[in-house]
Amino acid sequence: MAQPPRSPEWQYELLGGRLCLDFANTVSGLRGVDERDHLTDYAALVSWGRQAGTFDEQRARALLAQARRRPAEAEAVFRAAIALREAIHRIFRAFAREDDPVQADLDLLSGALGRALSHRRIRRGSACCALGWDEGGEELDAMLWPVVASAAELLVSAEQLPRLRICGLHESGECGWLFLDETRNHTRRWCSMKDCGNRAKARRHYQRART
Ligand SMILES: [Zn+2]
Repeated sequence: MAQPPRSPEWQYELLGGRLCLDFANTVSGLRGVDERDHLTDYAALVSWGRQAGTFDEQRARALLAQARRRPAEAEAVFRAAIALREAIHRIFRAFAREDDPVQADLDLLSGALGRALSHRRIRRGSACCALGWDEGGEELDAMLWPVVASAAELLVSAEQLPRLRICGLHESGECGWLFLDETRNHTRRWCSMKDCGNRAKARRHYQRART
């Protein structure tokens, strides 16, 4: 879990192991209980996209300039991004808790995937060609395309999906962050050892001392 936003630019934690999980983890605390949303407006969405590596500084500046020219569209993209993020969180939280995801959330993600894939491009790379994304357009939702692709890839991966976890402080209502446990022995229990892991450790220590 992270602290409340600070100016001028919130530093997002990127510890989910997949882009879609990092996107879902832009809310601290537990949703509906003690949540602090760090995606506060379209500019924050661009900032997250740049920090997460979905595009570079130059493209981030171009998107912000476009958003200033088309504020209503930027607001609509922001609202759609939050709806998408919450659907992604609900879908993967369900899998992490061995529940079934809601069909409406899968439909929302599926629709977003169709739009995202229309921006998929083949690029010349060092070894012939690589898959990339449309870089020249003026679409304000460019940061969402790789997020949606990442969610779809994780969702259909029989190898990765069983390694999806929700933070161990979920049960005490403190943290709802999602991550992929890529440790060899499948032993990762916390979104972050330095934050939630240490908090749980201190609590166990305190309880042992009391008894
Ligand atoms: Zn946590």
